[in-house]
Amino acid sequence: MENRKFGERKMYKAVCADCGKECEVPFQPQEGRPVYCRECYQKHRRY
Ligand SMILES: [Zn+2]
Repeated sequence: MENRKFGERKMYKAVCADCGKECEVPFQPQEGRPVYCRECYQKHRRY
C-alpha cells in the first residue's frame, strides 16, 4: 500500500548555482542542471 503524505516532502541537499549557498530542494538535483536556492530561484523566475 502506498502512503502519500503531502505535508512531508523529501528534500535534497544541493548547492545553489548562483550564490553558492547550500540549500534544499524538493527534487533530486540532476547533473548538468543548475539548482537555485529559494531566493535565487525567484530571481531567475521573473513573472
Ligand atoms: Zn542562491
